[in-house]
Amino acid sequence: MKNKNVVVVGAAKSGVAAAKLLLKKGARVTLVDEKSRTQLSAALKGLPRAVRVQANRSKFYSDSVDLIVVSPGVPWDHPDLVKAREKGVPVWPELELGWRFAGPRKTVAVTGTNGKTTTTALIGHVLRKAGRPTVVGGNIGTPLSALVDKIRPSTNLVLEVSSYQLEGQVTFHPNVGVFLNLTPDHLKRHGTMAGYARAKSRLFARMEKKDTAVLNGNDAWCRRIAGKVRARKIFFPNPVDRRLAKSIRLLGEHNLENAMAASAACRALGIKSSAIRAGLASFKGVPHRIEFVRALNGVKYFNDSKATNVDSTSVALKSFSGPLILILGGEHKGSSYRPLVPLIKGRVKLILTIGEAAPIIAKDLRGAAPLRSCGTLARAVKTARALAGRGDGVLLSPACASFDQFKNFEQRGEEFARRVKALK
Ligand code: ADP
Repeated sequence: MKNKNVVVVGAAKSGVAAAKLLLKKGARVTLVDEKSRTQLSAALKGLPRAVRVQANRSKFYSDSVDLIVVSPGVPWDHPDLVKAREKGVPVWPELELGWRFAGPRKTVAVTGTNGKTTTTALIGHVLRKAGRPTVVGGNIGTPLSALVDKIRPSTNLVLEVSSYQLEGQVTFHPNVGVFLNLTPDHLKRHGTMAGYARAKSRLFARMEKKDTAVLNGNDAWCRRIAGKVRARKIFFPNPVDRRLAKSIRLLGEHNLENAMAASAACRALGIKSSAIRAGLASFKGVPHRIEFVRALNGVKYFNDSKATNVDSTSVALKSFSGPLILILGGEHKGSSYRPLVPLIKGRVKLILTIGEAAPIIAKDLRGAAPLRSCGTLARAVKTARALAGRGDGVLLSPACASFDQFKNFEQRGEEFARRVKALK
């Protein structure tokens, strides 16, 4: 990298991490973003002065550029990236840059449409409990480029990887690749399901016979992709991983699937059955995903703020048998709430709505269960406290984005947890 001219596109978390790493390796770094400096100010805090920042810029290719590193949000067919490739200039996703300095080493990479974060965190937890020095990152929390310094020769890496990063990877080569499922998502970027599947299946591109692919046998796309995978394959569910994953304490069939995938990945790394069982049993879950907050007067409170769409709320509802008080609402994303009706009936005794979407929710769910409009999350928590009875669950699983009232779903979930913990 010494004295190379490197352009990093996108000045968010992964772009800033890439810029810092490149600078440390001796490159001349330019960080480009279409946003203005003011919009970027928080992200740029702590960035070394030697990194040149070009705000308000959507064009970034010039003849003097030696390498381009792209953040996940930048479309792969951006005209400047096309131009760069035509000129033979390498274009890497941030994951590829991180890998050049972090790899090769014992690595598990997890991808899929749903369950990535949970499964990645589960694998990391089991490995640590089993005494393996482990670093967890990628899409979950910290970009790989920012982890390079924390990695010792014996460290195991567990990475959550998105289709965006896999699409352009060159040398990335995990020992264990986990492919959870594939459902329509991100089709705007990938065009078709086949394109989306192709991007994700790049996970296995460099894997060989001595590596292991963990695949969902109940998922048609996973089965289709499996045909081209050279690595040894473990399909889940299977009797061995089902037995080991039974110890998981998280709610829901979907989490049993995530646990079976995690179990298979840990077996592939040589972790003993007893350690896998113990690790899965002691995993407390990932924040904001059907996270247990507290029990008060026989009422259990759960934070599922990550459920920003109707599908995720459906998954959450299926994890409970009831009776529930369900908090719904936030910024409306455009799709109907009607698919929730059959899941609400028989499970939900009261719906509390918050945020902008409240009137649409009330209309779509008319007759499914009694409903009260609360406006704010604060009111909803108070109302739930007043109306819940022993044995009830109170579930925040909003089926909406958070941006009408919060910075993001994390902030929404934190406020819920804080207010619930303050209840008397
Ligand atoms: P990701 O990182 O892929 O977004 P998460 O682990 O954060 O996945 O889970 C997000 C949501 O996806 C969960 O709240 C749940 O609604 C749903 N989900 C999790 N695991 C699965 C699974 N194996 N199959 C289907 N849906 C799932």
